[in-house]
Amino acid sequence: KRLKEGLSKTTQGITVKIEDLIKSYQKVDEELLEELEEVLITADIGVQTTMEIIDHIRDKAKAEKIKEPEMIKVILKDKLKEILGEFEDDQQLNIQPSPAIILVVGVNGVGKTTSIGKIAHKLKGQNKKVLLAAADTFRAAAVEQLKIWGDRVGVEVISHQEGADPAAVIFDAIQAAKARKVDVLICDTAGRLHNKKNLMNELGKISKIVEREYANATRDVLLVLDATTGQNAIQQAKIFKEATNISGLVLTKLDGTAKGGVIIGISQELKIPVKLIGVGEGVADLQEFDSNSFVNALFG
Ligand code: GDP
Repeated sequence: KRLKEGLSKTTQGITVKIEDLIKSYQKVDEELLEELEEVLITADIGVQTTMEIIDHIRDKAKAEKIKEPEMIKVILKDKLKEILGEFEDDQQLNIQPSPAIILVVGVNGVGKTTSIGKIAHKLKGQNKKVLLAAADTFRAAAVEQLKIWGDRVGVEVISHQEGADPAAVIFDAIQAAKARKVDVLICDTAGRLHNKKNLMNELGKISKIVEREYANATRDVLLVLDATTGQNAIQQAKIFKEATNISGLVLTKLDGTAKGGVIIGISQELKIPVKLIGVGEGVADLQEFDSNSFVNALFG
């Protein structure tokens, strides 16, 4: 239900438009497909994925002599499930077996700290012992924000002074995680994109520390992206993908956009699974991404 509410703007944007479109046609023809193409592209599903979908609908309609515009919804729904199903086995956080470490990357303002707080809360609810590391040391505000989230969800935060070496924070946090037998250590890292080389160096250094100090830990590297920024989010993701090994995406602020189709566009373009989606500012407003529920929420 929360998913449906969180996606209500997207539903308004895509579903309602598609339904209106379908109602205005008597039969499936090229004009209808063109209009559908436009709706999908406007919803940020991505040009390539949209083409693939439209071609599929055209072929299937022809092969099975489908005339009813209503049927398009069914074909579209199945096709979206098929496209998103590609990542079905990788949609879960990679945190088994314990201990696990999650590195969280993303540019400032996308909702990185908030997502970390929400993930910590979720894992605590699963009886996991969680520890946070404030390795975004370039902004005092980032460390403060993380501490506020730590207090809110009852999870300890390892931090250093502002300007400290992020890798040193990670080092300390790993030692603390080992000593306290923590199940999941979640690390907030800096998100400065202005210089790709810096980013690579910084993330490279952190990865080395993790490999050396926590070799047995299960690992996940999550990139947080703001869904409301659409194509910009895809550009950010491409840079991060070159700088480090991203194993999953967190798409935030889906409640604030009609372009929830970006979930499909981004995972297709980057070939990285969306693992979590943010649908609000509250602690419980983070959903595990499940492609079936997503498509069902979109198309009822
Ligand atoms: P950071 O700079 O990446 O750490 O970003 P923050 O975690 O501080 O979040 C930036 C703003 O986005 C805050 O006002 C958050 O409350 C808000 N935010 C984060 N996730 C979501 C979400 O899923 N939905 C909505 N509506 N707001 C969000």
